Amino acid sequence: MREWGCSGRSNEELINNLSTLRDMDGIGTILSSERVIAAMKKADRKHYVPDPSSAYEDRPQPIPYGDGATISAPHMHAHAVEHLAEKLQPGARVLDVGSGSGYLCAVLHHLVSPDGEKKGKVVGIDHMPRLVQWSVENLKKDGLKNDTVFVDTTKGDEVSPADGKLTMVCGDGRQGYPPGAPYDAIHVGAAAPTMPQALIDQLANDGRMFIPVGPEYGLQHIVQVDKNGRGEVTKRNLMGVAYVGLKDRPA
Ligand code: SAH
Repeated sequence: MREWGCSGRSNEELINNLSTLRDMDGIGTILSSERVIAAMKKADRKHYVPDPSSAYEDRPQPIPYGDGATISAPHMHAHAVEHLAEKLQPGARVLDVGSGSGYLCAVLHHLVSPDGEKKGKVVGIDHMPRLVQWSVENLKKDGLKNDTVFVDTTKGDEVSPADGKLTMVCGDGRQGYPPGAPYDAIHVGAAAPTMPQALIDQLANDGRMFIPVGPEYGLQHIVQVDKNGRGEVTKRNLMGVAYVGLKDRPA
């Protein structure tokens, strides 16, 4: 994966650097919308990494309690959020599959539930129970104590997400999270060997999904899946990537 050399000494500096550096095609910058920049500045990456001394480096970092999971590099999160940005309006419903550290859920929350505006819903789902608990602790440290709800579907919990809340779910993300559906935007943070139909079904009309598809350690592409107002689905390959796999929970 490409290193962008836009690391910073603080969260603010990291995000400022991401917003001035050219994209791979040299046409735009990685981060361009003011709303996304503001949301990324509100989520401080140091709360979501095991080694805060390198929190503002533009690289992935291994995270605990996962099956080889990493928090993605900031430029990858920026790319993903920019591609979904028009669907992340105040009041929108969002699903983040493979939520890992919880970092991206915080950014999504700031976009769909900004202060003083209509409140949206963010559902994060990951299949490692201890990792989901850790992500909840991270979100609380990052100022989202009263907004975060933990749901463990492996213990039979099923909670309907509430407006303005971040619902962090332990469960199999390939099945989505029907109590929160339909979703205006779905982000998938691990590569699906084949396109999961359950996630397409849970996408709202006029919704968009950003999903890496392909074998773990093989040729993968980010696919942007759009559902139009009549429920018709179109798919577009955005770029080649290397994500860990979306798979069965290790025994
Ligand atoms: N986007 C997150 C983590 C990405 S790593 C971050 O930046 O912090 C990919 C995550 O997908 C891991 O946390 C892993 O536990 C999770 N994962 C893999 N298979 C899964 C499945 N079937 N259901 C839910 N989560 C899964």
